[in-house]
Amino acid sequence: MSFPYSPLAVVGTVAVDAVETPHGKRDKVFGGSASYFSYVASLFTKVALVAVVGEDFPQAYRKILQERPIDLSHLQTLKGKTFSWSGKYVDDMNSAQTLSTDLNTLLLFNPELKFKKQPEYLFLANIDPDLQLKVLHQMDRKKLKFVAADTMNFWISSKRDQLLKVLSKVDAIVLNDGETKMLTGEKNLLAAAKQIIKMGPRWVIVKKGEHGSMLLGKNELFTLPAYPVEKVFDPTGAGDTFAGGFMGYLAWTKKTDFATIKQALAMGTVTASVTVQDFGLDAVRKINRSHLTKKFKHLQSICKF
Ligand code: AMP
Repeated sequence: MSFPYSPLAVVGTVAVDAVETPHGKRDKVFGGSASYFSYVASLFTKVALVAVVGEDFPQAYRKILQERPIDLSHLQTLKGKTFSWSGKYVDDMNSAQTLSTDLNTLLLFNPELKFKKQPEYLFLANIDPDLQLKVLHQMDRKKLKFVAADTMNFWISSKRDQLLKVLSKVDAIVLNDGETKMLTGEKNLLAAAKQIIKMGPRWVIVKKGEHGSMLLGKNELFTLPAYPVEKVFDPTGAGDTFAGGFMGYLAWTKKTDFATIKQALAMGTVTASVTVQDFGLDAVRKINRSHLTKKFKHLQSICKF
């Protein structure tokens, strides 16, 4: 087995989803927080994917991951079924209604990191906070330049204490508006983000769907609109690819100062805008980094005043 160096690592889910939007219904869509993340982050740098699948995981989906510089040495295959989520978007395309979450092999997953050289950037994508901690604890913190995490309502309600431990150990947390309010019980987003800063992270990034995003630091504030899109086909994966564009950009520039973090937010914004224009990974499979750079410059030009 080879363990080539990857500057960026992600732990998260690799999934088989069922998705329903006003534009149609699809079964067995390739999804998962780590799949979406690594597929786009790998446009910027090599990504090590730490995840688990079951024996039923389609070879065709593994091949999709192999299209990009994604190191699959830490993708375990265990007896049983692959993690599976089904959800639908009814009137609100900004938030999914979960119909079912089948954890399956995720319940057996015990990540064991065997990097010859440890990645410097780490993304703890949406997954059980216990697993996020397991991965983080196996890393030498001094060698990590930037660690960010994501989560969702499922884990906020079922594993709050473990999630608070994750928050106390990361540089940034990426949440959507609903999750930000749920975590704090605070209705005002700025007030909620300020409360989350007190829980430990240096940066809080709040995604507001079609209304853009907000970045709050200890002494910094920045807001960005979404990249305008006329037809949103399937929002699934928007949050994960936002994070993929964001972390990929940081690992690519090798900088983590405020100015670079703002640019990374813009790169996440344009990456997510591509994802929502088709089901699953279909839209992002058609793009490369220069498409994203073009949209990045366009976003810059339409925001300037
Ligand atoms: P998002 O970017 O937020 O739209 O994430 C969509 C992906 O999250 C889907 O492909 C799902 O497989 C995955 N997902 C859904 N629920 C969970 C969960 N509880 N933990 C981890 N991943 C999940």
